[in-house]
Amino acid sequence: MDLAGVEKDIERVVVSEEDLQAKIKELALRIEKDYEGKDLLLIGVLKGAVMAMADLSRALARHVEMDWMAVSSYGSGTKSSGVVRILKDLDRDITRRNVLIVEDIVDSGLTLLWLIANLQSRGAASVEVLSILRKPDAAKVMVDVKYVGFEIPPDFVVGYGLDFDEKYRNLPFIAVLAKHMYV
Ligand code: IMP
Ligand code: MG
Repeated sequence: MDLAGVEKDIERVVVSEEDLQAKIKELALRIEKDYEGKDLLLIGVLKGAVMAMADLSRALARHVEMDWMAVSSYGSGTKSSGVVRILKDLDRDITRRNVLIVEDIVDSGLTLLWLIANLQSRGAASVEVLSILRKPDAAKVMVDVKYVGFEIPPDFVVGYGLDFDEKYRNLPFIAVLAKHMYV
């Protein structure tokens, strides 16, 4: 997608397409080492993690399986509700599997905290997390994110899977949404 069409909706680019792709490759190398000789099940959190999942899985030079969950935490506003609901569950059993949750962003961390506990309770051998972005607030809750792409300021961002009212997910970079779009 060209920036020209959405330029007026965006305040500034926070992470460029180049930096995102370089980071994905770097994280993929770490994951290959960490999971050497083990099975690996990537669980993408819909819909935000679609881009990260597509790029990460292709950067991994090994077998991986993919499954998806959809949980609701946001509605169409810009603040976390803390209430998590499963909209789409996994297709397969994860007993004794090495699970890596693929997330777009950890903001309050509430969604993730809930998701980790949920997957652990199903008998996974291990549950780790990769998140493309992490906001500073996330440091305040006890949620261990093993693979973090970028630490960003607490502004509302869109692009690379992240939406505002379902739009901007297809931007190849991450940008701060202009305040006039939602205030
Ligand atoms: P948390 O529960 O506050 O950690 O947020 C969970 C979800 O809120 C994320 O997976 C995103 O889908 C969404 N979210 C949080 N911050 C942003 C943002 O800046 N832009 C778009 N979506 C966000
Ligand atoms: Mg999300």
